[in-house]
This record gives sequence, structure tokens and C-alpha cells, in this order.
Amino acid sequence: MTLRLKQCVQFIEQDCTDLGTCELRILPTRRKRIAVMLEETEYPLTAEDICRALDIKERSIVYEDITHISKSIKNESKELLVQPASCGNCDFVFKVKGTAKRPSKCPKCRGQWIISPGYLIRLRK
Ligand SMILES: [Zn+2]
Repeated sequence: MTLRLKQCVQFIEQDCTDLGTCELRILPTRRKRIAVMLEETEYPLTAEDICRALDIKERSIVYEDITHISKSIKNESKELLVQPASCGNCDFVFKVKGTAKRPSKCPKCRGQWIISPGYLIRLRK
């Protein structure tokens, strides 16, 4: 798994042209699209926004991609900025972790009305 992930980062960076032999040929394309969306957006995008725009079925795929992108863009002097998830009930703000995901429950009020985290990519200052 580690190897696969590593290969994939390389493909993103090198803009792999040998797609016929690349078993991960789907991934670089989708991840790239997501990365471009996050770079060009003016306001933070949620996983739901990205799912809708790119017709992706599972939110978890997007979160996985964002986590991956956040690592691969470090070499390009870019960074992933996160608008943290919050509770729609009591305004509790979740801590931003190294892995992109949407919490399922508020630790403070136990509510399940969670406002999804938003993401965008900017050049590192
Ligand atoms: Zn709450």
C-alpha cells in the first residue's frame, strides 16, 4: 500500500505520460482535477462540492484524495488550507488533523449536524 501511494505521488509530479502501463491511471487524473479545483476556487470547497462537480459517488474517496494531495503539493510550495468542520448545533469547531475527513458527531453536544470542512490550495507564503 505504501508503495502504491508513493508511485501515485510520483505520477502526479511527473505528469505520467505512460498511462497504458500505469495501474493507477485513474487516480492521477481524478486527483489532479481535484487539486486544480482547490487551487482555482475562491472559497473553500467541501467534499460534497467536489463529489457533485466531478460526479464522484463516495465522499470518502475525496477525503482520501485531499489527504494525498496535501502531501504531494508540499514540493510545489503550495499548501492546503482548511476551514475546519463545525457543529451546526452548538458551533463547536473541530481541530484540523493531518488526514482530511468529516467528523460524524460533535463531542460537546453529541449532535450529528456537522458542517463539513472546506478546502483550498494556495501558494505557501
Ligand atoms: Zn455540538
